[in-house]
Amino acid sequence: MTLAILFDLDGVFYQADKAIAGAADVSRWVKDNAIPHLFLTNTSSRPRSALVEKLAGFGIDTDEAHILTPPVAAVRWLQQNLSGEKIALFVPDKTKVEFSDFEIAQQDEEVAAVIIGDLGCDWDFATLNRAFQLLMSEHRPQFIALGMTRYWRADDGLHLDVAPFVMALSHAADVEPLVMGKPAISFYKAAVDILARDVDQIVMVGDDIRGDVNGAQQAGLKAVLVRTGKFREVDLELGIKPDVVLDSVVDFPAWYESK
Ligand SMILES: [Mg+2]
Repeated sequence: MTLAILFDLDGVFYQADKAIAGAADVSRWVKDNAIPHLFLTNTSSRPRSALVEKLAGFGIDTDEAHILTPPVAAVRWLQQNLSGEKIALFVPDKTKVEFSDFEIAQQDEEVAAVIIGDLGCDWDFATLNRAFQLLMSEHRPQFIALGMTRYWRADDGLHLDVAPFVMALSHAADVEPLVMGKPAISFYKAAVDILARDVDQIVMVGDDIRGDVNGAQQAGLKAVLVRTGKFREVDLELGIKPDVVLDSVVDFPAWYESK
């Protein structure tokens, strides 16, 4: 049986605003051979439609159904566990479209889940405290984090990402979040669920030894590390053993076909 594939995006198919050389050919190879696959990314600040557009700019032709992001995984979890319930969303406006199947609670309404994303400059005390008050309400709603990225680099320096706010809320409300985003197993489980394969029939391809390789292996998947994007030689000294290390995703089809 052929392996299904999970592809990381950033650092594998493109780096900043440049495509990785030959990556578009790999996406065509996947399509031409009808190989079951998903693009798996921690991006939660924009909807899948924007990612489809960005990929098209790199000559990569895909659609929303083949992209799994933390908001999409969160929605799947909500549909399976809290269908029809009201939720509270702390995510950028652009991302809200992914949650359109759910009713967003008004200020003083009870909610079944509190979802925390990268709200960036929109965080202030009142907003963070509202999330805290909801989490502390008597029936204790589900706490969902759209990834646990600590910070990111903007043009004017480092910016806090989602994790510091999730940690503050987790600490104050004494509740553990369900994390949707690499390397959380719950996120990989959502991908496995969509691909409808046994875990050992799926391979993850990424440039992040922890988030992609270790995360996937912890979930029972095979994992391929590519030497592009954030890869550094010292990554190979961390005791994490990818199934194979390739110079670039361009070398992946040959490895895949030799399996
Ligand atoms: Mg990456």
